[in-house]
Amino acid sequence: MAILPIRKYPDPVVREATRPVERIDKEIKALAKSMIETMYDAPGVGLAANQIGVQKSVIVIDIDEKPHTLINPDIVWKSEETEVGEEGCLSLIPEVHIPIERAAKIKVSALDKRGRLFEMTADGLLARALQHEIDHLQGVLIIDRATDEERKKALRQMAVLFSVP
Ligand code: ZN
Repeated sequence: MAILPIRKYPDPVVREATRPVERIDKEIKALAKSMIETMYDAPGVGLAANQIGVQKSVIVIDIDEKPHTLINPDIVWKSEETEVGEEGCLSLIPEVHIPIERAAKIKVSALDKRGRLFEMTADGLLARALQHEIDHLQGVLIIDRATDEERKKALRQMAVLFSVP
């Protein structure tokens, strides 16, 4: 595996929930490696496995110039404080940026590439990226979290671009 094509909305694969990884084997390690290469190539700051057509609960993130691989990530705590920030998505068109309200700080538990359980506390852009990618694993996109008005605007932007021959 290497750099793989990113699946775009309305491809049903990005709308379906992924399944937890049961065994961390060579295949999962290769998947994580390909996901990191694909994320850097895009370029993006995060990628979920279903964005490359694999229905497994794996995400990769790089906010701070070191790639993180999270297998079966789970948000175990969220701050009540929220922040609104603009988000784009590699599975939408680059022109779409939607203001999304997210928890300002979160704690995530996940397995690493060696199958060890770890916890990660995040705020700022890292917290936002983690929540965005974990949403992907449930088939949730930013257009689902947008206000009606923002969603309509985004769908209009995409419709216009898709209809251009
Ligand atoms: Zn995305």
